[in-house]
Amino acid sequence: MNTFADHFPLEIPNMHHFIAQLPKAELHNHLDGSLRIESIISLAKKQKIALPTFDQEALNKLLVNDENCKSLTEYFIPFEISISVLQTQEALEQATFELLEDVQKENVKYLEIRFSPLLHTKNGLSLEAIVEAVLKGKSQAEKAFGIQSGIIICGLRQNTPMQNLSLAELAVQYKDKGVVAFDLAGEEFGRPALDHLQAFEFAYKHDLARTVHAGEADGAHSIYDAIHGLKANRIGHGTHLFQDQELLHYVRDHQIPLEVCLSSNVQTKAVENIMKHPIMDYYRQGIAVTLNTDSYLISGTTLTKEFELAINSYHLTIDVLKQLTLNAFNAAFIPKDQKQDLLKTVRQELNVLFGNQK
Ligand SMILES: [Zn+2]
Repeated sequence: MNTFADHFPLEIPNMHHFIAQLPKAELHNHLDGSLRIESIISLAKKQKIALPTFDQEALNKLLVNDENCKSLTEYFIPFEISISVLQTQEALEQATFELLEDVQKENVKYLEIRFSPLLHTKNGLSLEAIVEAVLKGKSQAEKAFGIQSGIIICGLRQNTPMQNLSLAELAVQYKDKGVVAFDLAGEEFGRPALDHLQAFEFAYKHDLARTVHAGEADGAHSIYDAIHGLKANRIGHGTHLFQDQELLHYVRDHQIPLEVCLSSNVQTKAVENIMKHPIMDYYRQGIAVTLNTDSYLISGTTLTKEFELAINSYHLTIDVLKQLTLNAFNAAFIPKDQKQDLLKTVRQELNVLFGNQK
């Protein structure tokens, strides 16, 4: 017997509570965009860093993007503030720990956290010290909360190819110690992915998984370069994939997952508004789409809210909701055994939540 009728949201009295209980995985989350606001203030005070304001409400206004944000370039502005307090090992460890602590409260069972170590060297920390601090926060949170997680090291499009190569080398160095992939993030428009081929070849040749931000502030050709040039296993955003139908079929047929970030895409103007987002067209065509936040703080969201946004905007059925959940676990950069164990738990929890529906 089904617990609920086929369609959301009418049948569920407390949608937020229900979605918060749904077992979830998130694959696209930036550490420097997901700090607690109160931690930014306390870290700044501790490190004697001048913030534009120490008033929590006023700072929140400066840091959280909304639909008034005009572009990806503008979206990046608040990161200067959050990155300014992430220049010590203690701060990086705390931020990682707190992020995992926060997401497990909404039943996120697996989280991939990404960041770019070069942005955290302002006080002279070595790249290794930076990665090790994040890994320490990760392992402490995993022990404390039973959550599983992976770290993704980001190269940035605005970096030199040599800087990104050194970041790819760093990622490979920590491959079996908690780093699960290499990414290319940052300003997309006018900064071709292929400039960073060497870094991605290094990751590829050392069996490290790859994801690339593409088709967010640029067109489908950028996704083409990410897949065929940088050999991306997943695509961050992929919003403009519809511009190239042949590539779209390739992404579908090869099951290259898209890390979709709905709120962020509305904020950066990757789409005009939430109703114009192509996610459900992609879903219907058989593409492995996943829901993600991009940044908890700077996008002003949570994974629960992103699911609610999708449910309310696109009237998802239970089957679609379950499939979106499973897509994220399936696309995780984790070993097969670990993934199967996780999926077993997730399916059991889904059965409890939804009754016996398959
Ligand atoms: Zn991103």
